[in-house]
Amino acid sequence: MSTTFVPGPHLLESPRGRDWPRLPAAPVPGRGAVPPERADVVVVGAGPAGLAVASALWHHGVSDVVVLDRAGRPCGRFFGRVDLLGQRVLRSPYEHHPGVEGYRDCELLDFARLHWGRLTPVERREVRMAQAGHRSVVPVDVFEAYCDHLVDTHGVAEKTWRATVREVLPADDRVTVRTDRGPVTARHVVLCPGEERREAPEEWWGGGAAPPGVSHWDERVPAAGERQVVVGAGLTSAHLISNALEAGREVHWVVREPGERYQCADVNSKFFRPEGRARIGNVGWADRLRLIAEFRRASIMFEFRPQLERAEAEGRLVVHRGEAITGVTAGAGGTAVLRLAGGRRVAGDCAVLALGTTPETGRGLMPEEVVGERDGWPELDERTLAYAYAPRVSVVGAAAGMVLGPAARNIDGHRVATARVAESIARSLRGEAPVAAPVRAKVGAGV
Ligand SMILES: Cc1cc2nc3c(=O)[nH]c(=O)nc-3n(C[C@H](O)[C@H](O)[C@H](O)COP(=O)(O)OP(=O)(O)OC[C@H]3O[C@@H](n4cnc5c(N)ncnc54)[C@H](O)[C@@H]3O)c2cc1C
Repeated sequence: MSTTFVPGPHLLESPRGRDWPRLPAAPVPGRGAVPPERADVVVVGAGPAGLAVASALWHHGVSDVVVLDRAGRPCGRFFGRVDLLGQRVLRSPYEHHPGVEGYRDCELLDFARLHWGRLTPVERREVRMAQAGHRSVVPVDVFEAYCDHLVDTHGVAEKTWRATVREVLPADDRVTVRTDRGPVTARHVVLCPGEERREAPEEWWGGGAAPPGVSHWDERVPAAGERQVVVGAGLTSAHLISNALEAGREVHWVVREPGERYQCADVNSKFFRPEGRARIGNVGWADRLRLIAEFRRASIMFEFRPQLERAEAEGRLVVHRGEAITGVTAGAGGTAVLRLAGGRRVAGDCAVLALGTTPETGRGLMPEEVVGERDGWPELDERTLAYAYAPRVSVVGAAAGMVLGPAARNIDGHRVATARVAESIARSLRGEAPVAAPVRAKVGAGV
């Protein structure tokens, strides 16, 4: 007899905003505080990637670390985006956490078990599933409390300054990080700036600000209106649709692909394992590009399927499958009108675009020749994730995709990348491994 595992929509419903106990915290820099002028290591970005890097450096005994973030709060942008979408559970399982690889820290699953009394019966069942080695769903609430725990136990908050980094200027013996609150000079810099939303193609409305009635997934959806259009095929679209249906709106969903795809993880699970990473690491550039394109396709967690299928059957959700958008304009009374390739039009009181994200490669912060961008990816040393043309600067996060594969953008990928970066920086600071000479082929002597 075989059993089919069908995860239910109830798994999406974890409560948010519970009170989790915290360890006593050290004083943190005030909102207006100016970061120190010098540090051994500067980490740009305090998201899950930056948190993983700062925590790993703590384990290596590297304490002179300055973390710079626009918002100043560790993981602020990540939870801000998640909460804006009303996302209550993570897509990644318990084994994916920003804790430190190779050290016996309290991991995400241990943390959930420690707080058993605060979990709902459904959440407890998911913890048991994880313990038994099955796919499990992690509450955002537990994940945030765990990130706070990492911040507290690795002294990250007191090293984090609110600052917008404007420029990162590498030299042979140091890196200057220019911020809106003054410069910081470091021996090493780790870029963890995350990903920006993918903008609509220029031809949709000619670029620049979106027409009235049109917004992006990382902005607040207008509260008024009976009909909402959602564009995109990923989990973000699913949350936007679900929220609009719950608000009693009729939803029109435009999907470019012939049909929506449901799967557990956003990346095929083999890419989270060493053999999956080797699949990327052992092939040439063209094959890597092909693998990334093939395996970074948008998909939706299974748990949404019953709700979306029922809404479509009842006519509350209209799905426009296999429809490419050719133009977007403002209609009467601030409505949004989307023109489809076949000539049809879809209109709504508002249209929300969820077209995915693009990795920040370091472009815009460092000179172009230092980033060495090729097909939109930076040129990195595969062992240390340092920039080939600026070995004192390395990267953790989505931008490491051509080395670590499509999972580089995920929390699990950050941990793997962090292990390489932190080890190589710690060895360099201990004088055990001289910083590699920059590849000079592209860089002028003045950089
Ligand atoms: C809604 C949503 C849900 C997701 N769910 C999952 C999931 O369940 N599992 C999973 O593995 N992945 C998930 N992801 C993927 C996710 O993006 C990453 O796992 C994670 O957020 C990326 O962490 P990060 O630190 O690289 O980027 P971010 O979280 O974006 O952090 C980057 C930080 O750097 C700051 N920054 C950027 N540029 C500068 C600058 N110039 N100066 C100062 N600060 C700067 C930003 O303000 C931000 O705080 C999700 C993504 C989104 C958007």
